[in-house]
Amino acid sequence: MIYELECEAMIRDQLEARGIRDPRVIDAMRAVPRECFVPEESHGLAYEDHPLPIGNGQTISQPYIVALMTELLELPSDAEVLEIGAGSGYQTAILAHLAHHVCALERDAELAERARHALDELGFGRIDLRVGDGFQGWPEPERRFDGILLACAPDHLPERLAASLKPGGRLVLPIGPAGGTQQLTVVTRGADGETSRRELLPVRFVPMV
Ligand code: SAH
Repeated sequence: MIYELECEAMIRDQLEARGIRDPRVIDAMRAVPRECFVPEESHGLAYEDHPLPIGNGQTISQPYIVALMTELLELPSDAEVLEIGAGSGYQTAILAHLAHHVCALERDAELAERARHALDELGFGRIDLRVGDGFQGWPEPERRFDGILLACAPDHLPERLAASLKPGGRLVLPIGPAGGTQQLTVVTRGADGETSRRELLPVRFVPMV
């Protein structure tokens, strides 16, 4: 890997120093070359501690936020995961490293095409990445997931997504107003089907549209 030193520094100073502990998440963050998901002129900035523009007004999330949201999913080893707002495809690749199968939706067809290309190049051809609106959930409505991750912020909990969780599954998402501060939220579906919510910290994501 070309940016091995930058990647190790990112893991140590941004992830471990802030409390990311799950070795599977650390392994994934080490294995996926983040520079492959940012525009060429930003390759040298790929491991810095902030989001970066990926075109079409969208951003690739800060590495710490990617790691934190992934850890919060607490995925089982045979997990089926849904990501909404695949953007660059970086978070998608991290999830694919950990999960048995990843479905991903992105509303912007151009970003989705670029993400698909980057994922294919790295050998993540099994990811089911489609163009679509995450509010509606996965196009096969009967499908259930162990984890669902949103990289764009709705102003309320999309009920359809919460309903797509398996019992024991988790939905990790920012909830709050567009252009403002949102709360990073974990929604857990109990064995009885009831959901509970936990708000963790203020974050800033692009809006879900
Ligand atoms: N995880 C991505 C984040 C990209 S930014 C990365 O690290 O690169 C969030 C993405 O959510 C944008 O690409 C945006 O187009 C997408 N998005 C916004 N609203 C959406 C919706 N309703 N359905 C699907 N994707 C959406």
